[in-house]
Amino acid sequence: MADDIYRLEVQDLIRSYSGRAAVDRVSLQVMPGQVTCLLGPSGCGKSTTLRCVAGVDRQDSGRILVDGEVVCDGSFSVPPEGRPIGLIFQDFALFPHLSVVDNVAFGLRGSRNAKRSRACEVLDRVQMREFADRFPHELSGGEQQRVALARAIAPKPKVMLMDEPFSGLDNRLRDGIRDETLEILKEEGAAVVLVTHEPDEAMRMADEIALMRTGRIVQQGAPYNVYNAPVDRAAAAFFSDINIIRGKVRGALTDTPFGQFLAPGVPDGTEVEIVIRPQHLKIDFDRGGKGPNPTPRDGTAARGTVQRARFMGSESLVEMRMDYDGSVLTATVPSVFLPNPGKALWLMIRRDRCFVFPKA
Ligand code: ADP
Repeated sequence: MADDIYRLEVQDLIRSYSGRAAVDRVSLQVMPGQVTCLLGPSGCGKSTTLRCVAGVDRQDSGRILVDGEVVCDGSFSVPPEGRPIGLIFQDFALFPHLSVVDNVAFGLRGSRNAKRSRACEVLDRVQMREFADRFPHELSGGEQQRVALARAIAPKPKVMLMDEPFSGLDNRLRDGIRDETLEILKEEGAAVVLVTHEPDEAMRMADEIALMRTGRIVQQGAPYNVYNAPVDRAAAAFFSDINIIRGKVRGALTDTPFGQFLAPGVPDGTEVEIVIRPQHLKIDFDRGGKGPNPTPRDGTAARGTVQRARFMGSESLVEMRMDYDGSVLTATVPSVFLPNPGKALWLMIRRDRCFVFPKA
């Protein structure tokens, strides 16, 4: 296989229901061993994309290729069972009347012995060999998930599609199973497309995130880049709470409690929103509330008064009313700090973590 052939390639996929595009020109490329997450709110078209790739739904237009070979386009479609694609869904969908080993062997070809031997091999891989003769109802949720993974990888699919596969598991199990699953899929060299609406899950699992909204991919890239360079306010807000500092542009600059911000290329008079995540606003406890009045807006710090502070476990959330314009901003601080309402403090801003967008 040439280096430049993707394991999975989706080109300009469109799928409409009753004239409304559920998937609108979605394109993806996934290499072997790479995990791409389709991330977005409910109804944005993630599952429809996955169903078209699996072949259980038919796109209106666009092409899907595996290792450079077309599995479907406008005129031609390989049926789902003919595609080298594995599926894992939230509800596991194990056959209740088959034992664990028979569940795993179900989709395999070959002699009974060969199928059983491959099934046992993958059950070993997911540490479920000793459960081979049990039935699904005799397993915990985490164990069922492992069997579903074993069944999906047993035929050595080139592409693995996963639709919210971890959402049925309780929190304590979830992280461990996510990490194990990822490790196994990477070793198997499958190209993985994982659907989730949880940004934490996407950031934990993905090599690449495709952020979707109303059928379209609005941003695509490594988790670090999507998180740290959002394309718009909504993309920023999808990953965490955000603060918005509002301003109006004059001479490519906008005034804020922290001084002026650059708004390059934005015409005069345009209203802008400067987006900053709470974790990029820090409270300068060393400086206390002391300092000249009025606040010298030197670009990195501004003074305000604590409105409310909430203990959140590993951190505290502190709402500050800014002296400059009365706006309220939320900062996170280590949870050893829980300042009292009314206390005057300095807020420091990470300018490199601010994003300036024209008002939506
Ligand atoms: P997601 O997986 O992101 O939650 P879906 O792909 O399930 O979103 O749905 C995308 C849009 O397509 C939604 O508006 C949904 O209501 C619509 N849709 C999905 N499947 C069908 C269907 N079989 N018939 C009609 N509309 C559908």
